[in-house]
Amino acid sequence: LLHINNVTKLFGYGLLGLRKFRALNNVSLTMPIEPEILVIVGETGSGKSTLLKIILRMLVPDYGTVLYKGKNIFKMKSSEVRWYRQEVQAVFQDPFETFNPLRPVVDYLNDTLKYLLKVRNASERKTLIDQTLRFVGLSLEKVDGKRSNEFSGGELQRISIARALLSRPKLLLADEPVSMLDASLRVDILNILKDVKENLKTSIIYVTHDILTAYYVGDRIAVLYRGDLVELGPITKVYNEPLHPYTQLLLSSVLEPSLDIRKKVKPLKRSTIELKEFLLQGCKFAMRCPYATKKCYETPPPEIKINGRAVRCWLYVT
Ligand code: SF4
Ligand code: MG
Repeated sequence: LLHINNVTKLFGYGLLGLRKFRALNNVSLTMPIEPEILVIVGETGSGKSTLLKIILRMLVPDYGTVLYKGKNIFKMKSSEVRWYRQEVQAVFQDPFETFNPLRPVVDYLNDTLKYLLKVRNASERKTLIDQTLRFVGLSLEKVDGKRSNEFSGGELQRISIARALLSRPKLLLADEPVSMLDASLRVDILNILKDVKENLKTSIIYVTHDILTAYYVGDRIAVLYRGDLVELGPITKVYNEPLHPYTQLLLSSVLEPSLDIRKKVKPLKRSTIELKEFLLQGCKFAMRCPYATKKCYETPPPEIKINGRAVRCWLYVT
């Protein structure tokens, strides 16, 4: 379905932004044609939102390619771009930012049908809107005539999912879709995402910093650290036996206390470390890693494949 090949995105910093750091460094990822939920986990500054923006064609990578069903998404003709927008849709973190409070939310759903899908018949549009809203546990009757401020955050996030589903996309990108919601509402939204995969056969890239919701929805997980994809694999395997020291650190906060890496990792202030880490020649995690050697600082670790999993760390180079 999706082939991300060696994607690198540079951003400027310093005076006039003339110096560059790699917000994404040589990231490669493949999604199969069979529906799956791929979770991309990382903290602020890991590059996960940058990657989503690239897949949405909102940012152009400096190097590398992104192929969707074999087509380079940055070399599409305008007719292909429209097709791509139907195939690949997104849901964002804050549903209140998606909808202007002065407009009835149904207008947004109508617009998608009118302009993206060219459904000209109004009663046909109503039927499609009602069907799609029912899929997320609402209905046209419940939504008609209301504006965004008349809904709860959970309801509004359902409506934004419905809007994204109107074109029956094959890939849905979800950027922290539950992080603004009360914990009690999160599971409902996550269950809708699972339904989308099971029943609509839509693949999902779910981006989050929250490894608990990641585990709940994910089939596979990709872990990003400072622009590097450090670990990739089936989610149960990665959670049972995280290979990369950074993944071990992430999981130690919620899972097995036996993962004693937390005690070993050197705490460093984020503000002082961030750019330095990005600029490291070798492994970006070296400044925090208890196992770091001289080589880790000097040479980027290669990607090692182990039983259908991948990890970027010198510890696994034999
Ligand atoms: Fe730690 Fe070295 Fe592995 Fe990086 S490559 S995670 S510094 S052991
Ligand atoms: Mg983000």
